[in-house]
Amino acid sequence: MARGRARRYSRPNPSSCVYRQLAVRTRSQMKDSRNFFQKLPLEVFHLILDNLSVLEVSALCLASKQMNGYVVDYISTLAWKSKMMHQNFHNTYCPEQECFGKHFRNLGVLFKRCTMLLPTKERLKCILHKFSQVPCFLQETCSAPNCIGLSRYGVFLQTIIAGWDEFECQRVFHFLCEVTNLLHKIEAVVTTGKPGMGLKLTLSQNIRYFCRKVLLDLSPNQSDCQFWLLQLLKPWPLVSQAHLLLILYGPQLTEGKVTVLHWQDLVERELPQDALWNLARAILLLFNKPELKDWTLQTTLAVFEEIIVIPRPWHLENIARLLVVCGNKLCYTVLASRAQSGLIRDIAKVIVYIILVCEKDGYEMNWVVHLVQQLHVGFSSEVQKFTFIRHLEHMFSDIIAEFLYMYEDENRDVFTSTCLLLDANARFHTKFLHLLLK
Ligand SMILES: [Zn+2]
Repeated sequence: MARGRARRYSRPNPSSCVYRQLAVRTRSQMKDSRNFFQKLPLEVFHLILDNLSVLEVSALCLASKQMNGYVVDYISTLAWKSKMMHQNFHNTYCPEQECFGKHFRNLGVLFKRCTMLLPTKERLKCILHKFSQVPCFLQETCSAPNCIGLSRYGVFLQTIIAGWDEFECQRVFHFLCEVTNLLHKIEAVVTTGKPGMGLKLTLSQNIRYFCRKVLLDLSPNQSDCQFWLLQLLKPWPLVSQAHLLLILYGPQLTEGKVTVLHWQDLVERELPQDALWNLARAILLLFNKPELKDWTLQTTLAVFEEIIVIPRPWHLENIARLLVVCGNKLCYTVLASRAQSGLIRDIAKVIVYIILVCEKDGYEMNWVVHLVQQLHVGFSSEVQKFTFIRHLEHMFSDIIAEFLYMYEDENRDVFTSTCLLLDANARFHTKFLHLLLK
């Protein structure tokens, strides 16, 4: 009160004239319909916004249409863009990297709020135009091996589209393809040339990195990831779909500091399950999704059969290991589908390798016994059932003989006797198992 009284009775003070000018409104000022923020010089208003966090600025967008416009003007300034968007994406040891994810999530909220009055197309144009100027957010403009720009772009984009329906997300996909020329790049690697070779290897690597970091890896749930994966696969024929799936999730090789796609090993030698795990996960995404008009179970099985012959038919142990990693349901479906096509000898060979993989990787053998039992029950006639068991037993002997053949020269007599014993073993177990499974 004392301060109030003092102010009321004090003499006019020249230093308080600014205060009096605002407090005593003239007739022209009374007519002024501009609000408080409009009356502020732009620099002062921006200075106020500079002191707010990204989330606080985003909250202002919700206040009114006018305020939304002010914020859009503010975030369009060069100073704001260089402060907020052009970060150091290459220093992976920087402790601030942790905060980067949160920062770009907050930027996503800001852009989502300040463009909410626009139709989707305009909204995307406004957002992606601003972000396409950051070199680390584009596929080819940044070649730094440890750049984390695209994964931050992914965080930003996923925040923007959270809660959007499929139709809107399809628009996002088409818009993104338009801006990045993604479909043309995919076409260049999957429809021509030898898979995983030459200059196209770099382009394949770029496609993998962009699609995984921006669209697939950050999807909040399985159905979102299925959605993006199908958007990427659907435009292409089966063989190209298989090729693209291998580009996106196939095994990679680390050479020094650089990681490259490397598929020759799939053909020439056994790979550990780590190398196949991502691919198995992607195949399961397609396998476990509800059937759609343009993507059925048969499509997934056909794509699987195409994958395992790229770049040439894979080493059998890799096929078996991929099936084991994919789990019982997919493994049974693939083998039962081959059985229906009459490929009994072929599935017998894969089963022997599945048994070998289970032994090597420490999986329960009961799993394979149950698988064989399921397949055995699926055959309609006794002749087919007997043929299946016979092929399985003889395949065991044939494969062991193939391994022994490598040592044949060392002791010819021992080799012959071992082969005889293996044949006898196969014949005996065929009769015995057939009797038990009746
Ligand atoms: Zn970069």
